[in-house]
Amino acid sequence: MKQNVQNFVDSFMENLIAKNPGEKEFHQAVHEVLVAVAPYVLEHPELVDLKILERMCEPERIIIFRVPWVDDKGQVQVNRGFRVQMNSAIGPYKGGLRFHPSVNLGVLKFLAFEQVLKNSLTTLPMGGGKGGSDFDPKGKSDNEVMRFCQSFMTELHRHIGPDTDVPAGDIGVGGREIGYLFGQYRRLSNEFTGTLTGKALAWGGSRLRPEATGYGLCYFAQSMLGTRGKSFQGQTVVISGSGNVAQYACEKATQLGGKVVTLSDSNGYVYDPDGIDAGKLAYVMDLKNVRRGRIKEYITKYPSAQYFEGKKPWEVKCDIALPCATQNELDGEAAALLLKNGCYCVAEGANMPSTPEAIHAFQKAKILYSPGKASNAGGVATSGLEMTQNSMRRKWHATKVDDNLHLIMDDIHKACLQYGTQPDGYIDYVKGATLAGFIKVAGAMVDQGLI
Ligand code: NDP
Repeated sequence: MKQNVQNFVDSFMENLIAKNPGEKEFHQAVHEVLVAVAPYVLEHPELVDLKILERMCEPERIIIFRVPWVDDKGQVQVNRGFRVQMNSAIGPYKGGLRFHPSVNLGVLKFLAFEQVLKNSLTTLPMGGGKGGSDFDPKGKSDNEVMRFCQSFMTELHRHIGPDTDVPAGDIGVGGREIGYLFGQYRRLSNEFTGTLTGKALAWGGSRLRPEATGYGLCYFAQSMLGTRGKSFQGQTVVISGSGNVAQYACEKATQLGGKVVTLSDSNGYVYDPDGIDAGKLAYVMDLKNVRRGRIKEYITKYPSAQYFEGKKPWEVKCDIALPCATQNELDGEAAALLLKNGCYCVAEGANMPSTPEAIHAFQKAKILYSPGKASNAGGVATSGLEMTQNSMRRKWHATKVDDNLHLIMDDIHKACLQYGTQPDGYIDYVKGATLAGFIKVAGAMVDQGLI
């Protein structure tokens, strides 16, 4: 059986790589999923015959388009826009938009592929998609960002809709960008619908959507810690990133009794041995979300902290690590360092932040390790709750949203236990999350015929 699985994975990957050359993040994401689901698929030959995995790796549709706009100097700029509509077997396409210079088709296909399984895990009726552009909002004026967003939406609007495809934010797309995108969508469609999520409260947003990914991550990590009789209480926590996910992970981890000692951005990280408490986090939120500054400015405000240029926070001694920046930010070397320093829980807030070598090291050491598709699913789950509220034309109280978020994260954790508990009791969260998400989507695809 083991040999069959290996042959199946190898030959599948060979075809996938030949068909999708150069898309290394996509290859990486598919390989991780294949390893987890191949034994199940081989035990269900109808899934092999119906080429369910091959179909899941082929997006239902990809839209690539030109995004021309004019900068503040009056110069014409041209970016590339994308939307990968990966799989709608269990609901409308749903997934964020990323604006970052590193965006290309391979990155978005990896994100869309992951999104399909993640959305399935949330228990809500959402398919998977992802989109974005190689546009870099950093250093652009509000007017430039607005003109870019309007041009981007002028093409995208004809491909999305409340029952077709509902985009949200991701790296480089926060409240400001969603506002400009939604405004242009509303103008072009002449309709006020819930076609984007992550909207502001006054115009269709859900309470707790900004908080949801970071909060959900900590609820999930709390459940993981619970399997070892532990909690955040008294634990030292290292977080990477200082954007949306990192900020609210920091807030919730602190509320649950942890001491968060690092935050980072693409230039370096800050280490604050006294802990980044609510007051310091408020400073970071203003710095990052309003003044759009760099994390190194933190040490000017809090001189007892230190800044490490060009470094990642994994060298800091901790109990719990929450990678919340970007893909492949935690490699084998960083994993070895975390393990050496006694870290026993890694819960991913970002999508695929750990390289395959890092995941292997965590699982070999049998520490608690969860992949983003499980532990960061609270963001898209709350986007799903925003869609529900938009359809009902109602707005729920924060406690109702938070209760739902908590329940969903608990359910995802239970699904991981059900499908990922190994004979020796170790919980393989990668296997558990992947298999639970896959079985539902595969079943829906079988039911709906060859489409
Ligand atoms: P933001 O744009 O708000 O923040 C991203 C953070 O990561 C910033 O601090 C940024 O630093 C840092 N970062 C980005 N690229 C790199 C890089 N190449 N190297 C080092 N640091 C980098 O994004 P989010 O917080 O929304 O997203 C973070 C991660 O979480 C992503 O992987 C995203 O896909 C995932 N995620 C987000 C969800 C959401 O609801 N927002 C939901 C689920 C997953 P800098 O400012 O220097 O660029």
